Amino acid sequence: MVVTTTSSSTNNNVLIIGGGLAGLALANVLKYQGVPYKVFERDASPDNRSQGFSLSMHFCLEALKSSMDPVKYATLGEKSAVDRDYPNRADACLVDGNTGERLFMFPSESSSHDVFRVNRERFRNWLLEDIDVEWNKRIDHYTIITHNGGRKVKVTFTDGTVEYGSVLVGADGVNSQVYRQLIGSEAYDQSTSVNPVKILNGSYWIDSTFRREIENTLSYSHMMGSACANEDASHSICLFVSLLDHDPARKEQEDKPYEMLWSISSVDQEEPNYETDHEKLKQAKDWIHQSGFKGLLRRLVLETPEDTKVTALQVVERSPHPKMDTLRGDPVVLIGDSIHKMSQFRGIAGNHAILDACLLGMELTRVYKGDTSLDQAIDTYYKEMLPRGRNAVEESHQAVEIMHASRAQINGFIYAMANKATDKQEKN
Ligand SMILES: Cc1cc2nc3c(=O)[nH]c(=O)nc-3n(C[C@H](O)[C@H](O)[C@H](O)COP(=O)(O)OP(=O)(O)OC[C@H]3O[C@@H](n4cnc5c(N)ncnc54)[C@H](O)[C@@H]3O)c2cc1C
Repeated sequence: MVVTTTSSSTNNNVLIIGGGLAGLALANVLKYQGVPYKVFERDASPDNRSQGFSLSMHFCLEALKSSMDPVKYATLGEKSAVDRDYPNRADACLVDGNTGERLFMFPSESSSHDVFRVNRERFRNWLLEDIDVEWNKRIDHYTIITHNGGRKVKVTFTDGTVEYGSVLVGADGVNSQVYRQLIGSEAYDQSTSVNPVKILNGSYWIDSTFRREIENTLSYSHMMGSACANEDASHSICLFVSLLDHDPARKEQEDKPYEMLWSISSVDQEEPNYETDHEKLKQAKDWIHQSGFKGLLRRLVLETPEDTKVTALQVVERSPHPKMDTLRGDPVVLIGDSIHKMSQFRGIAGNHAILDACLLGMELTRVYKGDTSLDQAIDTYYKEMLPRGRNAVEESHQAVEIMHASRAQINGFIYAMANKATDKQEKN
């Protein structure tokens, strides 16, 4: 809808909807590049919702490092790593769930770029440092207006207030209102699906002895394994485990200074019949027993204290709709989970979200400096992001499938991966 206005409140701000990883990364880039912006977040405060899991930050970090304040970037590891005493330890491994043995190691030191395993809450707080956010602002809809011969955007929030800007960036995550309005509800619903895999997450604090066993036998940072009830079973249960926090002060109190997260998942077409934390924990332990997990991963789930909070998660998937290849003209653009929502089984969704933010942020900087037009900047950004996003959604979908496949399929996958890694080492 095009509305003509002469409002004097129309200005040049980049309006960012969503103060999650993508929106805040974009705000950091724009702030450092001197481009005016505003961030609007529906939550009432930064700690309104639990951000309780950890993330691997890797391939997006080169872009982030080169586009935001280098002094702030240099503090990323010490402020947000799961273990702030050892911020660079981000080793991961694949485990055979049925034997408990480590099969394959991904050492973080061999990487050509920075790698951090970050505590999500601390990482978001780090992104929030020195960034102004307007909290309690939920977008209702936007309107494109013409102003002095150009186009602007007017955003209306659910509290009835409005804001004007030169461009609207939808960084509003999985249930994006901005993306829904841009492509229409039908196309939005068609391209969004819920994977039948059901996930249960829990975390609790463990002692130094158990922690050392995990570190020495498996890996320092995070690990994933699948187990199958028998060789003929068509599906495995998958278990992901990560260090979530290290608090040396807790050692003095009760020698439980390490918080460990587990995330167990199973293919299940039925609606879950567990509701309370107690029922969810029972389900998680049943999956461990049914699938025959062995070793430390089994022990970690089975020793979870009965009063632990257990969260159920869905795997929502959404590839950028084909309409996005040609839909141009409005000063509205999408980044992160809003446009490419992928499963967490490849550990790349947040990296893509932050990479989007950096690439778009640098394009908007060029617009601000008068080096390119907004239409050109959005087009350049989409030409890179859309194929990358589609590929990542597909790769992440394959990762869910493989980690829940039969034992023979998983072994075939690990064997192929080991061969690929050996070839790479020989070439180097
Ligand atoms: C368990 C789990 C583990 C993961 N592990 C990894 C990993 O290891 N590596 C990795 O790269 N990725 C990982 N991810 C994915 C990663 O967390 C997401 O891709 C990333 O958070 C997406 O960032 P975003 O800013 O696009 O969305 P979000 O972080 O979801 O932020 C969206 C923001 O928009 C706000 N919002 C929503 N609607 C509105 C509205 N109408 N108005 C205003 N504000 C609104 C929300 O409150 C939220 O703050 C994991 C995800 C999960 C669930």
